[in-house]
Amino acid sequence: MNSSIENLSILVTGGGSGIGEGTARYLCAQGARVTITGRRADRLQAVAASLGERCSWLAADVCLAADRQAALQQALQHGGGRLDALINNAGITHHSGLEGLDDEALSRVLNTNVNAPLLMTQLALPALQAAKGSVVFIGSVHSRLALPGRLAYAASKGAILTVSRVLAAELGPKGVRVNCVIPGAVATEINAAASGQDLEESKRLFRNLAALHPIGRIGEPEDIAQAIHYLLLASWTTGAVLDVDGGMGLGS
Ligand code: NDP
Repeated sequence: MNSSIENLSILVTGGGSGIGEGTARYLCAQGARVTITGRRADRLQAVAASLGERCSWLAADVCLAADRQAALQQALQHGGGRLDALINNAGITHHSGLEGLDDEALSRVLNTNVNAPLLMTQLALPALQAAKGSVVFIGSVHSRLALPGRLAYAASKGAILTVSRVLAAELGPKGVRVNCVIPGAVATEINAAASGQDLEESKRLFRNLAALHPIGRIGEPEDIAQAIHYLLLASWTTGAVLDVDGGMGLGS
């Protein structure tokens, strides 16, 4: 177990809101040098401005090869030529079961939630290998629980759980650890965007899900950030699938 993440160079995709923003704030508070990316420059700029010189940002779409390259370069530059960790957090959802699914929505969700983080990891691998670093993927209770109505999202998050374990086996001999966090419900923007709801209304509805969590409350971004922080320190932990869900996924 390493004792500190102070001065580690960390790239958080989707760091302008929700869990990614909370993670950037938490890791910066622990002394890391964090680069956040996403498509909305105004959000990234506001988060980075509030975090000071420990945080850099770049508007970059994880689905575009040139943007992934630019994101990596930004993180390397901010980290003094190093990249110690990649947090593959950016994600989207789509609200439908099988009958409401169309090719475009399925491709968009799989491309953003599976293809992009895999290709980002591939791109970052030489830097991560040089730093003996690690990767954290963000799954979901939908990775394992059979909950109808989010079919494309469940497909993507099921895939992420599996690829994180396969990559742990593949990259362990290269000195790179790979782990996966499985969050329960956290009131963020992701569902508002998919359902067309007003953000505050969506967050209010999400808070009603507290009863599904044996701990009795939904999660906060900081709950997920703490788990990510632990996985960055845990030098003998790879291939772990860490449920951070207030007990929501018990039994799955
Ligand atoms: P948010 O919508 O707040 O965060 C998602 C982030 O991903 C946004 O900042 C968004 O930024 C970014 N993003 C989306 N698409 C792209 C893209 N193509 N390129 C770059 N960035 C992109 O929701 P959450 O914080 O909840 O989501 C973070 C992760 O947590 C996701 O992987 C989600 O699946 C997962 N998760 C969330 C749960 C929850 O209950 N909230 C539960 C389980 C898992 P921008 O729009 O500016 O590009």
